[in-house]
Amino acid sequence: MSATFVPVAAKSLEDYRPIIGEAKTDEIRALAKPLEGARVLHFNATSFGGGVAEILRSLIPLLRDLGIDARWQVMDAPNEFFNVSKQMHNALQGMFIPWNSTMGETWRQVNRANAEAIDAAYDYVFIHDPQPAGVLSNILERDPGAFGARWVWRCHLDTTESLPEVWDFLRPYIQLYDSVIFTQDTYVNGDLPDAEVTIIPPAIDPLSTKNIDIPDEVIRDVLDRYSIDPNRPILAQVSRFDPWKDPLGVIDVYRELKKRFPAIQLLMVASMADDDPEAWSFYERIVRRAGEDYDIHVLTNLNGVANLEVNAFQRAADVVMQKSIREGFGLVISEALWKGKPVVAGEVGGIPMQLMHGDAGWLANSTAEFARDVGTLLEDPALGERVGKIGREHVRENFLTTRLLADYLKLMHKMGSGAARRSNGPGSRADAAKARRRGRSRAA
Ligand code: UDP
Repeated sequence: MSATFVPVAAKSLEDYRPIIGEAKTDEIRALAKPLEGARVLHFNATSFGGGVAEILRSLIPLLRDLGIDARWQVMDAPNEFFNVSKQMHNALQGMFIPWNSTMGETWRQVNRANAEAIDAAYDYVFIHDPQPAGVLSNILERDPGAFGARWVWRCHLDTTESLPEVWDFLRPYIQLYDSVIFTQDTYVNGDLPDAEVTIIPPAIDPLSTKNIDIPDEVIRDVLDRYSIDPNRPILAQVSRFDPWKDPLGVIDVYRELKKRFPAIQLLMVASMADDDPEAWSFYERIVRRAGEDYDIHVLTNLNGVANLEVNAFQRAADVVMQKSIREGFGLVISEALWKGKPVVAGEVGGIPMQLMHGDAGWLANSTAEFARDVGTLLEDPALGERVGKIGREHVRENFLTTRLLADYLKLMHKMGSGAARRSNGPGSRADAAKARRRGRSRAA
């Protein structure tokens, strides 16, 4: 199996200095200095669509700019695996699914094959999300010292109410890692006793095509291309078509609002990710529910929507909504806040921390609340503008990719650096990790 390396465009930390200031930029440089030359792998399920791909596309080139040899590799897996891993994802976020041993075996086999594609060339390996979480147990069969690397499992999901049988299946694999990262402390499952847990929220890149400032003419051109009227109110939700984002509920909110604001237009923007088979069935349901209403625009990568278009849609929106019922973090919230937009979003997962529990946006819990708050904002744009400014500064302080970069560098320091990092001798940190692993039951 040949898990693919993902090419990324170069980035320079210096370009972020005007945005985050001198002190933060210099701190990142100081953190990176002792890690120069370190070999780092980030491994995940897909290079396209969804938050993880979005984050790695910025993080990898910034690590490289700082002299760290960072690489990004994605799993190679058949569709059958992604059907299983999506069910696993849903169960870990609390949905009931009939988990069975055949599903477990499919997951194990693909993890075994993908582990073959990882060699000993790394000091730090970051495995993202449950899909490839089983690679480490296979590596340990090849080398009980796990190549002397530090292994981190980064969970992007909201695992507060995981289905016990699926979490029980996964837990022995997770316990093999040196360190585990969750987005917020409420997601940490209490039964990970040995794991060193770090809390790191994700972040957005203010200089990516998705978030960078763009001229009004570009926004107008994009709207024109998709027959969206810039002179009528625009409500937008940008997110994968999946049950947790409640896309059908978005249409219900829009229909409520349409009674009060007949000119309103709804943009439902979604990318159809490779690892997301559910998106296709949702796509069909959404189009059916939208029916002959041409003020509902279903906009996807299938009709040419890429980062620039998403940027333009978010900026063109009068109100951005995110009707999630479960959300690990929700990068789209920070993306909209960074653009100074008023946001109305579900009070779930990582959303309240981005909306400062209501000070940087509106938290809603039902169709009626969404319709009420969006309506208020459509009637009083100055209110949205005021709160949008607070949101932008909150994102600058907490949710830009440079903060994420600093957090990753700090974690790498904590796990060991310099000579200790490469040493497998007695008393070294790698030795301690090995001893811990020996003490745990082997997962595979
Ligand atoms: N996204 C996109 N195009 C779309 C829909 C989503 O580029 O049509 C991006 C979105 O801008 C965000 C990411 O995909 O950067 C979604 O991340 P989020 O954390 O909101 O949700 P996830 O998909 O990871 O659950």
